[in-house]
Amino acid sequence: MASPSDHPLAPETTLVTAGRDTAAQNGFVNPPVVHGSTVLYPTAADLHAHRGEFQYGRHGSPTTRALQQALTALEGPNCAGVGLAPSGLAAISTALLAVLKAGDHVLVCDSVYRPTRAFCDDLLGRYGVETSYFDPLIGGAIDALFLPNTRAVMVEAPGSQSFDMPDIRAIAEVAHGRGALVLDDNTWATPLFHRSLDQGVDISIQAATKYLGGHSDILFGTISANAAAWPRVAEAIRLLGVCAGPDDVFLALRGLRTLSVRLAAHQRAGLEMAHWFKARPEVARVLYPALPDDPGHAIWRRDFTGASGLFSVVLKPVPQAAVDTMLDSLKLFGMGYSWGGFESLVIPFDCSSYRTATRWAPEGPTLRFHIGLESTDDLKADLDRGFAALGAAR
Ligand SMILES: *Cc1c(COP(=O)(O)O)cnc(C)c1O
Repeated sequence: MASPSDHPLAPETTLVTAGRDTAAQNGFVNPPVVHGSTVLYPTAADLHAHRGEFQYGRHGSPTTRALQQALTALEGPNCAGVGLAPSGLAAISTALLAVLKAGDHVLVCDSVYRPTRAFCDDLLGRYGVETSYFDPLIGGAIDALFLPNTRAVMVEAPGSQSFDMPDIRAIAEVAHGRGALVLDDNTWATPLFHRSLDQGVDISIQAATKYLGGHSDILFGTISANAAAWPRVAEAIRLLGVCAGPDDVFLALRGLRTLSVRLAAHQRAGLEMAHWFKARPEVARVLYPALPDDPGHAIWRRDFTGASGLFSVVLKPVPQAAVDTMLDSLKLFGMGYSWGGFESLVIPFDCSSYRTATRWAPEGPTLRFHIGLESTDDLKADLDRGFAALGAAR
């Protein structure tokens, strides 16, 4: 859709307008879901010249083009291209493979998504890439960890269990001085709340399974890259054969159109519930950078324009069996992996089992909450019941 050139569009407007080509869609608002492998060429000359925007289903379709255009616009002027992957983890592994080769070293934030660690340790290790982990709060002191062969730094801001907030700008400045690229798992904030490509990140990844999809009905990943990194990302996607199914592409695009209202609602309810948890006598701490007394708050205010609905709670010391009784008593908070959908979730977690660069030693059991789109009054009533069960079981 045409955008008025006299002033830049707000992100909310970009989410609604970008990637739409009404004329090419026979007037329909949304693109067709193109199921297709073969693209036919009208003449031998066209075939020899690879003429036409689409050549083969794996490389793109009108459906993927619409989503890629919309995401490119959302990421902002530093985005040179967006790749689509069948899951968030596939987006992460593809991006790392794109920028690393045998003999390289990669620095990875100690708070990254655990399967990202497994990919680095188990698969990259087998291919001759060495990984070492750093304290998420290291900032510019990361300089001391660089080796002559360090080619990439991977961060996640904030870590999606412990919510440590890395200073991406400081890390990126050092990395670029050392000739390394910076990758960011931007799943928690999405590009709506964190334009990481504007803050020194070269490759910004989303598990679109979470907020972009928004309905717990797809697995999907996106890889957005700046001009320095996009050619390598595009090449890796092509060589690995990474692509996403058309129905999931369509659902990701549908989720994108309402991302701003959903994230605003998750943020509003998330903040309300985080404050509510803080006031509970059973709670020692709430880990959520949007809270003014959170250690990551200053960086969050500087680099982010919003917070999503995912945070963690550290309980005061209590036996795990009592926590399990609490979890079993909840009716609105489902127990399960993933997050970013319309529904509230809770999961117990323990980072201490896998962290290597930092010690994770909270004062009590830890729970991660995803605040969905239910009424916060109902969520509080559910948790009141849960805390009563916890108290009776301790
Ligand atoms: C869920 C998640 C992933 C992986 O996404 P999948 O689509 O499940 O593969 C990666 N990073 C973060 C932070 C996540 O929460």
